[in-house]
Amino acid sequence: MASVSLSSISMFNTFVHPSAQSRVSEVLSTTFLSEGKLVKEFEALLATELGMVSPAALNSGTSALHLAMAVAGIGPGDEVIMSPQTFIASAIAVVQEGATPVFADIQYENGNIDPASIKGAITVRTKAIMAVHWGGYPCDMDEIHALAKQHNLLVIEDAAHAPGATYKGRAIGSISDFTCFSFQAIKHLTTGDGGALCSLDPTHTREVFRRRWFGIDRAHSPVSEIGERVYDLTDVGYKYHLSDYAAALGIANLEGFQQRMDYRRQLVRQYRDGLRDVQGVTLFDHKADRESAHWLFGFHVENRLDFIRTLKAKGIASSVVHDGIDKNTLFGGKRMDLTNQRRFDETQIHVPLHDALTIEQVDYIINTIKQGW
Ligand SMILES: *Cc1c(COP(=O)(O)O)cnc(C)c1O
Repeated sequence: MASVSLSSISMFNTFVHPSAQSRVSEVLSTTFLSEGKLVKEFEALLATELGMVSPAALNSGTSALHLAMAVAGIGPGDEVIMSPQTFIASAIAVVQEGATPVFADIQYENGNIDPASIKGAITVRTKAIMAVHWGGYPCDMDEIHALAKQHNLLVIEDAAHAPGATYKGRAIGSISDFTCFSFQAIKHLTTGDGGALCSLDPTHTREVFRRRWFGIDRAHSPVSEIGERVYDLTDVGYKYHLSDYAAALGIANLEGFQQRMDYRRQLVRQYRDGLRDVQGVTLFDHKADRESAHWLFGFHVENRLDFIRTLKAKGIASSVVHDGIDKNTLFGGKRMDLTNQRRFDETQIHVPLHDALTIEQVDYIINTIKQGW
C-alpha cells in the first residue's frame, strides 16, 4: 500500500476527458460560442448514449427544474409533493413559480421518497410529484406513477444524481413527464455547469425548447430584412440554453461514459462486499429491478461523528452530502413528523466515490472502517 497516495481521499472529483482540451479549443477558434450545432450534437448523444427522451441542454440542473415547473404550468396555490432528502435547488424551483413544496417522508433504507407517504400528502391543490433519485438509486417509479395516474398529477424527476441509471430496464430520462439532469462540476457528466430537461409529451418538449430561449421559437422565427427575428412573445421565457463551448466539454466527457459507469459499479461492489458484515454499518438497500447511477456510496453508521473524525484522521473524507431540506425557514422549518427523514439525518453517511478513486484506495477505506471508530 506504500506506493499509493492515501494522504487525502476526497469525496468527489471533476472528470475532464483528455479530448476536451482540443474539442473546446476548436470552439474557441471558431468563435461560435453560444448555442449552436454542438448543443444539438450533445443532445443527440444524450439520447443515443443514455436513453434520454427529447433532452434539451440547459445551463444548469436548477434551470431544468425551474423550466419543468414553468412548462408544467405549476403556479401560485399549487402544491408539489417532494422528498426532503435532496439539495435545496429541488424546492427552490417550486417556490420560484409561486407554488408550495410539500414534503413527504422518505424510505430510511435508501433516502428516496416513500410512495405510502406521498399518498397521505395529496390534496386538491397537488399538481405534481417530484421524485429525487438519492445518490443515483431510482425511486419506486411504478408506485409513484400509479398514484399520479389515480390523482391526475404530473411526475417530475430530479435526476441530478442519476444519469445512466435504469428502472426495470428503462433509462432514467424516459419514464416521467419531466426529468431534470445536472452537469455541474462534481456530477457524473460535467459541462462545467449545465443540465438537461427531458419531456415525453411533444407539446411539453416544444415549450421547453421555446422557453429555454426567452420564449422565442428559434427554428420558426426567421431574421427579417430589417434585421430582427420575427416573433411575438406570448409568455415568459428564460435564458437557460447551454453554450457550444460547454457542449464541447460534455461531448468529450461522454466518451467512455459507460466504461466509467462500469468502474463505479465495480467500486461499489467492492465497498458492499467489504462493509457488509461490519459492526455499526448498515448498507442502503439495493433492489435487483433497478440499476443505480452510483453518484454516491452511502450507508447508515452508528456514532457518526466519531466515524467522521476517525476517517478524517486517516485522510479520508466522508460526508452526509445533504440532510433534510425541510429544515430551512423558506420551506417551512424542520418537520418532526417526517420520522424516517429525521432518523436518516442522524445516521446517514457517504464515503468517497468518483472516477479518480482507485481499487487500492477503496481497500484502504474499507480496512480503516473495519478497524473501528
Ligand atoms: C446538483 C443538484 C441540483 C442542481 O443542479 P445544478 O446543475 O447545480 O443547478 C439539483 N438537485 C440535486 C439533487 C442536485 O444534486
